[in-house]
Amino acid sequence: MIDNEFGRGASILAIDHDHSGCVTGAMARADALCLERGVRLTPVRRRVLELIWRSHEPVGAYAMLDVLRQEGFNAQPPTVYRALEFLTEQRLIHRLESRNAFIGCPSPDHPHQAVYLICTDCGTVEEREETPALTEALAALARHTGFYGTGRMLELTGLCRGCGAKQSVA
Ligand SMILES: [Zn+2]
Ligand SMILES: [Zn+2]
Ligand SMILES: [Zn+2]
Repeated sequence: MIDNEFGRGASILAIDHDHSGCVTGAMARADALCLERGVRLTPVRRRVLELIWRSHEPVGAYAMLDVLRQEGFNAQPPTVYRALEFLTEQRLIHRLESRNAFIGCPSPDHPHQAVYLICTDCGTVEEREETPALTEALAALARHTGFYGTGRMLELTGLCRGCGAKQSVA
């Protein structure tokens, strides 16, 4: 459902949204894409992806390592890093540079440039795709500056819809 140039409408990350739907959808997309691409979602890769999708807050590698060890995976840091590398390559997750942590990608089926909306209150991160107008504006800025851009990470910090609403009634 495309509402406008920004994709789906207002944030889906209302506090009471049905997160089990997010998880089920993410895992089903991951299974289908791995099958299609002929790559394996091994148990540890799958579990790391599930841990990342536990919420919409970014998760760090060491937090995942702790959980995997508690669950009896013989997990060493390289195991987790390799799983993260695989999931990133398959575009199932993104690394949020400012937090050095990972979030699940809601649209792994096509390459895209993401914009991250980071709530400083509840910690959730919502990903949106960069609009063509924004892409063009950034390219124009780089051209104007004589800068040859090879990458970017756009992060907006502020309050998500739920936290903003709480503050305005308080
Ligand atoms: Zn959710
Ligand atoms: Zn994405
Ligand atoms: Zn929030």
